[in-house]
Amino acid sequence: MKTPCKAACKNNGGICSGCLRTIPEIVNWRDADEETRHHIMDTLAGITSTHLCPSCQQPAQCDIAAGKSSCWCFALEEREATETNTDLCLCRACLEKQPLA
Ligand SMILES: [Zn+2]
Repeated sequence: MKTPCKAACKNNGGICSGCLRTIPEIVNWRDADEETRHHIMDTLAGITSTHLCPSCQQPAQCDIAAGKSSCWCFALEEREATETNTDLCLCRACLEKQPLA
């Protein structure tokens, strides 16, 4: 089975600092269908994105902006607000580094 796991998994407030998947994404990976897995892989790789991260200008994905009713970031523990005054979500890498609120 394909997996983005880098064998460096560390739960950092709800997101893995190794592969940048959320804990539910990791837990449900085994049972997820191919389409769901591909979607997660593509967003991790920046292939699928809705906007650029306001912090690092890399591709970032907001599932709400993509028309879903919830976003991957809902699974994370609350982070401190960023200084960038924007409604756009951070990418996974930047959100992972952001200190817990
Ligand atoms: Zn970023």
